[in-house]
Amino acid sequence: MSGAPIICDVGPRDGLQNESRTLTPQVRAELCERLAAAGLPRVEAVSFVHPERVPQMAGAEEVLSLWADSPGTVRAGLILNEKGYDRALAAGVEELHLAFPVTDEFCARNQNTTVKDAIALTRRLAERAHGDGLPLTITLGASFGCPFEGAVSPSHVLSVAERVLGEGISELLFADTIGVGVPTQVRTLLSGAAGFGVPIGCHLHNTRNTGFANALAAVEAGVAVLDASLGGTGGCPFAPRATGNICTEDLVYMLHGMGIETGIDLDALIGHAGWLAEQLGKDLPGQVYKAGNFNLTGR
Ligand code: ZN
Repeated sequence: MSGAPIICDVGPRDGLQNESRTLTPQVRAELCERLAAAGLPRVEAVSFVHPERVPQMAGAEEVLSLWADSPGTVRAGLILNEKGYDRALAAGVEELHLAFPVTDEFCARNQNTTVKDAIALTRRLAERAHGDGLPLTITLGASFGCPFEGAVSPSHVLSVAERVLGEGISELLFADTIGVGVPTQVRTLLSGAAGFGVPIGCHLHNTRNTGFANALAAVEAGVAVLDASLGGTGGCPFAPRATGNICTEDLVYMLHGMGIETGIDLDALIGHAGWLAEQLGKDLPGQVYKAGNFNLTGR
């Protein structure tokens, strides 16, 4: 078994962008602070998407400026295009996350582009990120299946990855955007990417209850990064019936129980999930914040 993956909480972005209740930048900044205080090494705090496309993400700059200093936690922001890059750079994000789906139909609906053009854009932005000294993570959406084109073969995903990789790209994530994947796909993608020369991660959703089986398969394969969201909130506004990310505190519970230390304070996270449920005015999909922690070792 390998060591602990870096856990990136994408709740303030992927989680909140699909919620019917829009939280203020103040509350979103507090969410980031709470995650940082609980020991999350990385938080995807905002998306630099046009506010008319995703109103829940309006005020990205404000969220970042309101988020008080949190040493030890990387402030990441999602970008989809050059304009997003400019905004993210000006807002002082410490790590850029650039995402696009590996299928043309989803690319068209999600960000009005094609896979070919998205790869070209990625290469341009990777050169800029390299020049600006900013880490750039690429997330390949729909790597396990597409809501519009159906099955997606691992060989197609890996070939898109190979065309994207190069100078300026610090990390690559395979995203199960609509939560259709199974552990065999995780193993195939991670072993296929083993020679890529950059840390490889997974972005998983629990839409069909395979999210944690997939996370375990990823951990066993030595995955470097796992995205998750506090309380398991989330989805994709442009993918029908997509639901939440794998839940951060449920993932941390599993890892700690297996003796894989993350440095994250699980009890603090459980409290923060309860707080987030109050902010959103509903129960969240996460289970550990409802069931409570349990000390498996008795120590
Ligand atoms: Zn997602």
